[in-house]
Amino acid sequence: MDFSLSEEHIMIQQAARDFANNELLPGVIERDENQTFPHEQIKKLGELGFLGMMTDTQYNGSGMDTLSYVIAMEELSKVDASASVVVSVNNSLVCWGLEAFGNEEQKQKYLSRLASGEVIGAFCLSEPEAGSDATSQKTTAIDKGDHYILNGTKNWITNGGTADIYLVIAQTNREKGHKGINALIVEKGMDGFEIGPKENKLGIRGSDTHSLNFNDVKVPKENRIGEDGFGFKFAMKTLSGGRIGIAAQALGIAAGAYELALKYAKERKAFGTEIANHQAIAFKLADMHTQIEAARNLVYKSAWEKDNGKNYDLSSAMAKLYASKVAMETTVEAVQIHGGNGFVKDYHVERLMRDAKITQIYEGTSEIQKIVISRSILQN
Ligand SMILES: Cc1cc2nc3c(=O)[nH]c(=O)nc-3n(C[C@H](O)[C@H](O)[C@H](O)COP(=O)(O)OP(=O)(O)OC[C@H]3O[C@@H](n4cnc5c(N)ncnc54)[C@H](O)[C@@H]3O)c2cc1C
Repeated sequence: MDFSLSEEHIMIQQAARDFANNELLPGVIERDENQTFPHEQIKKLGELGFLGMMTDTQYNGSGMDTLSYVIAMEELSKVDASASVVVSVNNSLVCWGLEAFGNEEQKQKYLSRLASGEVIGAFCLSEPEAGSDATSQKTTAIDKGDHYILNGTKNWITNGGTADIYLVIAQTNREKGHKGINALIVEKGMDGFEIGPKENKLGIRGSDTHSLNFNDVKVPKENRIGEDGFGFKFAMKTLSGGRIGIAAQALGIAAGAYELALKYAKERKAFGTEIANHQAIAFKLADMHTQIEAARNLVYKSAWEKDNGKNYDLSSAMAKLYASKVAMETTVEAVQIHGGNGFVKDYHVERLMRDAKITQIYEGTSEIQKIVISRSILQN
C-alpha cells in the first residue's frame, strides 16, 4: 500500500487551494449573507477544468481520476461549500452520469458544454412527496411515440435557477414500479418548464436551490438516457458516485474549520497562556485531527475503488455517513474554540457549521446511508 499522493495529485491540491484562497475567500461572507451565487468564480473554475474533472478530454473534460476530484473538492470546500456543491453536482451527477450512460449524440450535444463549464447542469430527482423514498415519483413522462410529455414538480434542485441542462427523473409506466422510471435531458427554455422561487436556506446559501415545474413539457425521445425504464437505476448509480463528492465536501468543511480553530488556539490567550496550552482545547484539536484523518481515508478509499473498477456502493455510503458526522462535530467544536468570536461571521466557523448540516441530508440522508450500509453487510 502507498498512502502518498502523486506529484500530479499534489499539483491539483495546490491549484484548488490557491483558487479557494485567492478567488473564493474574498466575498464569501457577503455571498452567504446575501445568497449570491458565485457566477464569476464558477466561470473561472470551468476555465480551469474543475467542472468536468473526470470527463474524458474528447468531451472537453480534464480526464482526471476520482481521487483528483475529491482532493479538489476538499480544498474548495474548506473555504466555500456553496461553490463546491456546484462543482460536485456538475462533476459527479451530471457529467459523470451522462458520460457513463448517455449515448454518443447526447455526449457530443450536452456533455462537451457541461464539462467545459460553458453551461451548468442540475440533477432532478427529489419531489415534494419523494425524497428518501425516491421510488414514489409523481412526475410523469408519458410516452407519445417520438417524444415524452413531462408533468410534475421537483424540489430542492441545486443549480435550479442557474443551470441550462437538467437531468430529470420521471415515471413513465407506474405499473412497472421503479422499472417504469426514465431519466430525461431537459433544456432550460423548453415550453412549459418553469423555475420556482429560490429557497432561503440555513447553509450553502450562495448555492442556488429551486423547485421546478413541468407543465406538458415536450421532451424528444432522443433525450432519454439509456433504455426505457433505466431511469431509477441511472439515479442510484449516479448518486453512489455523487456521495463520494459530498463526502469530500464534508471532509473539506471539517478540515477548513479545524485549520481555523488550530490557528486561533495558538494565538488567543486566556489565563496567561495561549488557549492551545489548556488541555481541554488541545484534546478537542486532537479529536478533530484524528476524525478528519479517518474521514479522509474513507473518502480516498472510495475514490480509489471507483477508479479501479470495484463496486463502491458500500464505501461511498460509509464515507458520506462518517465524513458528514465529522463535519458537523468538528465545526461545532471549532465554534467553541473560537468562543464569542466563533459566533460572529468574520471568523468563518459559524458559516462552516451551518454549511456542514446539509452534508447529512442531501444525496441520501445519514439514515439512508445506514440502510445502504446495513443491507450491504447483511447480505454477505
Ligand atoms: C440544499 C439542498 C439541496 C438539494 N439538492 C438536490 C438536488 O440537486 N437534486 C435532488 O434531486 N435533490 C436535492 N435535494 C433533496 C435531498 O436529496 C432530500 O432533501 C433528501 O434526500 C431527503 O429527502 P426529504 O427532504 O424528502 O426527507 P424525507 O425523505 O421526508 O426524510 C425525513 C426524515 O426521515 C428519515 N427517513 C426517511 N425514510 C427513512 C427510513 N426508511 N428509515 C429511517 N429514516 C428515514 C430521513 O433520514 C429524514 O431524517 C437537496 C436538498 C437540499 C436541502
